[in-house]
Amino acid sequence: MEHNGISKANDTLVFETGVTYCAHYMKVDTKDFGLPQTRNRTYMFVWQPENEDFEDDLGEYWEAIVSFLKSPVRHSLEAFILEADHDIIRVFREALSGPAGRTSKRAAFLEPDFWASTSANLKYSTITRERSGIDEMARTVTSWGAYGEKQCPPHYWLEYLNITEQRQLDVIEIMHASAARDAELHDSSFSSFFWNISQNAGKEKHRGAKSGIAGCITPGGNVFLPHMGRPILGSEKLLLQGIPYFRLLLNNETEVQLGDLAGNAMSLTVVCATMLAALTCKQLRAECHEAGKNVDPTKLLNKTASLPTKALQERLDADISMDIAVTHRESTLPCISSVFNQLAPLAEEAVEASILCTCESSGRNSSTCEFVQCRRCGASCCRDCLHSTAGYQLRSHDTKSITVGDRTQGAFQSKLQNIVPTSVIFDEDGIAELSSDHRAKDLDKFVFNLHRIQRRRRAWRVIYYAKADAGTGEPIAQFVLSVGEIAAKGADDGIQLGVNGELTSFLPAKLHPLVYGPISPCAKVRVLMGSEDAKMMWSQRMKTETTDLVVEGTGESPSFRAETGINQDAPDALVANSKTKYYQKIVANAKQRGEERRWFYPSNWEVWPENISISGGSSGAASTVHGTYVRSNCRQTTNQVRRWRLQRASELLGFIIILGSNPFFRFRARSFSLLASLSSRLFGSERLMARSQLCIY
Ligand SMILES: [Zn+2]
Ligand SMILES: [Zn+2]
Repeated sequence: MEHNGISKANDTLVFETGVTYCAHYMKVDTKDFGLPQTRNRTYMFVWQPENEDFEDDLGEYWEAIVSFLKSPVRHSLEAFILEADHDIIRVFREALSGPAGRTSKRAAFLEPDFWASTSANLKYSTITRERSGIDEMARTVTSWGAYGEKQCPPHYWLEYLNITEQRQLDVIEIMHASAARDAELHDSSFSSFFWNISQNAGKEKHRGAKSGIAGCITPGGNVFLPHMGRPILGSEKLLLQGIPYFRLLLNNETEVQLGDLAGNAMSLTVVCATMLAALTCKQLRAECHEAGKNVDPTKLLNKTASLPTKALQERLDADISMDIAVTHRESTLPCISSVFNQLAPLAEEAVEASILCTCESSGRNSSTCEFVQCRRCGASCCRDCLHSTAGYQLRSHDTKSITVGDRTQGAFQSKLQNIVPTSVIFDEDGIAELSSDHRAKDLDKFVFNLHRIQRRRRAWRVIYYAKADAGTGEPIAQFVLSVGEIAAKGADDGIQLGVNGELTSFLPAKLHPLVYGPISPCAKVRVLMGSEDAKMMWSQRMKTETTDLVVEGTGESPSFRAETGINQDAPDALVANSKTKYYQKIVANAKQRGEERRWFYPSNWEVWPENISISGGSSGAASTVHGTYVRSNCRQTTNQVRRWRLQRASELLGFIIILGSNPFFRFRARSFSLLASLSSRLFGSERLMARSQLCIY
């Protein structure tokens, strides 16, 4: 090209044909258009220019509008995944455990040892393991073996793993170990990962560029979500492409067909943006020319966009001025504290009727009434699924047997329905005490209506929503009541029964300035079962405080990485990597920021302390975190990255510790958020005083 004097950047290729078309292309990524998916594609705009002028600039206006329509993703992948009790999921899981699934299972259980086979795929697994410094036989998640043998974490869908090939199970193992291998350690059971297990291990990236964002949806891709323990279904792939699955007139398309449909589709939001731009770019050009010479189209677009539209805030203001809640407040509503007191004694019954095993999470009941539960972390599963050759494993747990009686879900649900009010309101002066960070100050003007009653793991949930536009629009806040097990903290038998209430305002994520990431509740209340004086003690999150603490570790136990089968080759590879031309500068910058731990292992990476004691610090809040934290023995059900629990007080809610890169047992604690109590009620008729309860998040 060069020797012909052609410049790729500036020259235009012109074909002499009977009719002239111009083309303009741009690169787009789906996650810039509101969907949590990384999908890099190039879109081309082709048009017929006026007067056959092949230097027509309409394409630039098209690109300006497409760029203007970008809207960064606001909801993570999990928001696009159907709930476990959704009909589609229930039907799919029933098929897995029905005749069709049993046939596939039989085939999978006839498969001899993949590791000793002559399969052409085997080398990808062995090479990846060797290259990443993962022990050849490390199988800590699924413990897979020949003829269907496996022991998997209790939150995985067993019926799905039972039809999964050994090669794919090994990809899960490698991905899990790779997540732990990263200098910034992750426990795959608790982090949002998106693994395409139909690929061979060497091809699949174990981490996305951004967590909570799906990788590219491809036809035939078999995606596994380790933190949810399940695959992604075809319908969910369509939803991740922005295609309104529930409004499509589909017939009896199979899972594979739906998946292919989604993989071959274009993301709807991107298509819409490019089409809208194509329809309007001519008008934009005309307006730009009208406005004068050399007017920047983006500037003109921004000006148009700031024209008043009926935004959420305005609609909320209209709702607030109506103050629907005031009529409810004047009429004699049932006092919510009486509801809490009525619900608390039901906690035990609620647990019995709840989901006690993952095989029950989509609506069915296990055929057995024998269950096992861990005394420490509360994880449970049924005797049928706790199988020594192909089932869940609770080896690291301290289990006890439980037998439940008659478990009729419907009976308990209607009991709950009779007690919980259909709508609740909050008190003005209670709401006024909430910190302004939550943007909850007007929530007392709204009525919270019952949305649904949900069967959850070892608890039942009652969800209320407050909605904009006089209760018909989008939800702006939620109030959630859970009855059953409300905490499983502390050492032995730390499982508490009772009722929990949580108020969450969605407004930080809906009104400018937008807050990204998970929203924490503004206020919490807890009434324990059997407590005589069921005081409604509301607590709210305190402002984050910074203080110096002395953190010391004692005792030795193998680290999570060592348990996962990571060997010395892994840290060595990281060191070697950091010296390559590409990473040199990035690592140097990280060092400067004091973030070396994101790149290297500490020298003592193979051991973690058994106990961590925290002392020191000057503020009053610091003393509330003092104490000795003990490493939890429960694997796969407690996040390996924050596993030290405070021994002394069971009401403290756990603790986050990241391993620092400094040698020998020194740790860096992430910020503590403390919950301070509200000195007054949020609703009810009696004023309640509570001051002393502090919790660590
Ligand atoms: Zn446990
Ligand atoms: Zn089960």
